[in-house]
Amino acid sequence: MEGESVVMEKMELPQCAKCPVERSEKACRDKNGKAPRFCPTRQLTELVAKSQKPYEDVHIREFARQASIQEGECYINREARPPVLHPVIPRLQEVCEFAGKMGYKRLGLAYCIGLQGEAAALTTVLEAHGFSVVSVVCKVGCTPKEEIGLTEKEKVRPGQFESMCSPITQAEVLNEAQVDFNIIMGLCVGHDSLFFKYAQAPTTVFAVKDRVLGHNPLAALYTLGSYYERLIKKPKS
Ligand code: SF4
Repeated sequence: MEGESVVMEKMELPQCAKCPVERSEKACRDKNGKAPRFCPTRQLTELVAKSQKPYEDVHIREFARQASIQEGECYINREARPPVLHPVIPRLQEVCEFAGKMGYKRLGLAYCIGLQGEAAALTTVLEAHGFSVVSVVCKVGCTPKEEIGLTEKEKVRPGQFESMCSPITQAEVLNEAQVDFNIIMGLCVGHDSLFFKYAQAPTTVFAVKDRVLGHNPLAALYTLGSYYERLIKKPKS
């Protein structure tokens, strides 16, 4: 992206994903740790300090505090030395427990119509935990795809009427219902981005859509050395 900030001009762009430092020795985990040249922890100290300011707001601070308490509670035997990670709480339970900690009563569920059964199941679980659930499907409003300029050949089923995915409407319906917290499930890439942009309540992701890999996009990364090698290697011409 063009138009880098003045701060970024003076350093290499952050590349944490390429950090060669061993996990326990990283500067972001140990104040005296090691850091490569492109390290944002070492290079952007002013920005790091400024980005802590929002936590002075009691609501933001409490949200972050409860999220981190929940993070810790997802493991057992935390006192063991040497430490051994032993996670025991699946995300389904994690969402319920975090929403409970925050005292939320009404939850919004924005989901993809392709996951109708999963949305019903998730609603059953959330209700069993005492939450009131407002759910809105992606096709809400039945707005034709032509409204955003799609041509027939750009539809999933050319030649037929198709409702567009309406993440902004999903967000606005949930805003109107004054939900305390949103959960999204299976929204398409980009549609999820618009939901985040327009939703007023904080939002978590229960599951992302992956039409091929059973909604587990990481599977493609786990098999990058074999079945998905084509995504990093150009075909020979
Ligand atoms: S913050 Fe610095 S030390 Fe931590 S992963 Fe990024 S580059 Fe590595």
